[in-house]
Amino acid sequence: MKSDLAADVEQRTASFGREIFARLGHTPMVPFGPAWWDERLMEWSMADEAIKLQLFRFVDVLPLLRTPETIVRHLREYFGEAREHLPGWLTLALRYLPRGGLLGKWLAATAYRSAERLARKFIAGSNLEEALDSIALQRRRSLAFTVDRLGEATITEAEAERAQADYLELIDGLSGEVNAWKGVDLIDRDDMGPIPRVNVSVKLSALYSQFDPIDPDGTSRAVRVRLRPILHAARQRSAFVNIDMEQHSYKDLTLQIFREVLDEASFRDWPHVGIAIQAYLRDTAHDLEELAGWAQRRGTPVTVRLVKGAYWDYETIVSVQNGWPNPVWSHKWETDANYERLTDFLLRNRRWLRPALASHNVRSLAHALAVAQTLRLPPGSLEIQMLYGMAEPIKDTLVSLNQRVRVYTPYGQLLPGMAYLVRRLLENTANESFLRASFTEHVPEALLLRNPLEFDRDRRMTP
Ligand SMILES: Cc1cc2nc3c(=O)[nH]c(=O)nc-3n(C[C@H](O)[C@H](O)[C@H](O)COP(=O)(O)OP(=O)(O)OC[C@H]3O[C@@H](n4cnc5c(N)ncnc54)[C@H](O)[C@@H]3O)c2cc1C
Repeated sequence: MKSDLAADVEQRTASFGREIFARLGHTPMVPFGPAWWDERLMEWSMADEAIKLQLFRFVDVLPLLRTPETIVRHLREYFGEAREHLPGWLTLALRYLPRGGLLGKWLAATAYRSAERLARKFIAGSNLEEALDSIALQRRRSLAFTVDRLGEATITEAEAERAQADYLELIDGLSGEVNAWKGVDLIDRDDMGPIPRVNVSVKLSALYSQFDPIDPDGTSRAVRVRLRPILHAARQRSAFVNIDMEQHSYKDLTLQIFREVLDEASFRDWPHVGIAIQAYLRDTAHDLEELAGWAQRRGTPVTVRLVKGAYWDYETIVSVQNGWPNPVWSHKWETDANYERLTDFLLRNRRWLRPALASHNVRSLAHALAVAQTLRLPPGSLEIQMLYGMAEPIKDTLVSLNQRVRVYTPYGQLLPGMAYLVRRLLENTANESFLRASFTEHVPEALLLRNPLEFDRDRRMTP
């Protein structure tokens, strides 16, 4: 009986997957933006790990470099380290790069402009006004949004206060404008009725300079002092607040703060809140079960944004360095398979955990649509989320299939945005990235749509 059900889901997944790819066939297959040079730069960096490493190191440090001399010096030093991997003409050119003079200035300005252009693919604008323009453009494509101000863990209390002020300004600045726009039913309603149009994503570590898992209660108290006004403002302005998930060491504390603040009398009956949960962690199934039990005791549902997780390299390196057990799955198919199990759990428990499936992977999303269909869920009962600047054709295709798609839309200055940009670059160029496999390497559709568990079966059958 159980295997009949699994076969049925598998068949429907294949059918949704093929339908998405067929519709994609009519849109240009460019995963992130049209600029030819940027595409070539990405392709070139993807071809060699050593070049990629130096390119991303350079992009990471660039906003801190103030003079043409330092920019050219870093270019020379970083790419010098990957000398053996560069074409001969480039090695030669590196040796003779001008440090100063007009040519040096031109080179530095070009490097800066290229990095900025790269950043603008994934970052919607440098201020709220520009972000609002991007949101308006997305809405014309029937795409909903969740907006985030760039900047992560803060180091001083002044920065944490600034972050809180930014979030308040964000909620206030967006609500007046966005709530006055003409309605778009596909994204302004779910299966139960109207939903908030303004949706803000918050990183808790931005709200307190001493965010520390060693002192969970003290951290929770301090974070809640800054978080409460944000939640009050959102509630008052009919906005939605989602809490992002950061590295594994912050996970339990983030969940604790989320639950503690929402158990407070002013928020207990407020459903317009959510949290990101990462499928690449081995202990996520347990976390989701606990979250479902807690939401039921609270008596009001919350949304779960199911992601795979953006810190895979970091978690793996930290665990190896410290000799700790790795909290993340080691194989991509394990994360993908876990994502499908958790999707199933969310869709079955949507009375308390409203499902938002965040992925650009057609197989993962087709599987979610298939499970929803077998459970006979009404239209609008699940949401799909994607990142700004990524998988644009897939977003439009899902809209054409009447799915509610929400775009994570970050804005801000290049410097605080660097960590975000480097994560996106790593993700897009990773060997195992779905977008790379489908858009750059043109892996056949049937392989892209394969059940992740089949990779395990193949592996075990290989002598
Ligand atoms: C709207 C939205 C919001 C997001 N918010 C968050 C957030 O709050 N916190 C967060 O951490 N991430 C967040 N992400 C990023 C997300 O976690 C993924 O990094 C990203 O979406 C890529 O996954 P995919 O399914 O699109 O692509 P795929 O290419 O199918 O999957 C890539 C992912 O697989 C996993 N992976 C890669 N290699 C391996 C391996 N060898 N072993 C095991 N697993 C592996 C990694 O998680 C990697 O990101 C968000 C993504 C979206 C779309």
